[in-house]
Amino acid sequence: MVQLIPSSEAVMQMLKRTGAYREGHFVYPSGQHTPHYFQMPLAFRYYDTARVLAVALSRLFRTDRDIASLLPKIAVVSPSPGGIPVAFGVREALSAEQIYWAEREDGDRKFRQWVGHGGVNPCVIIDDIVRSGNALHETFALVRELGADIIGCGTIVRFNSAPKEIDGVPIKSLVEFETKSYENGEDCVECREGAEIEQVRF
Ligand SMILES: [Zn+2]
Repeated sequence: MVQLIPSSEAVMQMLKRTGAYREGHFVYPSGQHTPHYFQMPLAFRYYDTARVLAVALSRLFRTDRDIASLLPKIAVVSPSPGGIPVAFGVREALSAEQIYWAEREDGDRKFRQWVGHGGVNPCVIIDDIVRSGNALHETFALVRELGADIIGCGTIVRFNSAPKEIDGVPIKSLVEFETKSYENGEDCVECREGAEIEQVRF
């Protein structure tokens, strides 16, 4: 079987086509301006696109002998609800045994109560997009609290401003995206060009 992993360009085309990647002039609640915006769940609205992206991501782990050798006794973990469709798709493609996701509760990232009962397999942490790496750092800590090993980490898109690895675990990705942003409107190229602003929620 040929194990093809789509090119970064092909993945970006899918994200653009589904509206998950937009170009324009965006302003965050923080006041930051950017000429690009990712809203990954828009790509996961379409089952075919969701499946292609998850299978592609899963192949980065299939080709990792240390991880492949542990299958199916691994767990796929999502740092947040946004990563759940990706985590389920990757789990399915790998036939991994377990799946977990964290959620925000009173401002903190947490797993549901008693989730670690029965034992947690070695974990692969999967997200849709890694912007700063904070969500991954917090999830690494949560998984360690459960007493589980972290054997891999991956995302569809990784901003080049995010770390390449966490605690020696490389962050595998289908796209490495070169980000551009401005602290405020003063240096923003799009502002200077008079481009219409789209306010984004986060
Ligand atoms: Zn601007």
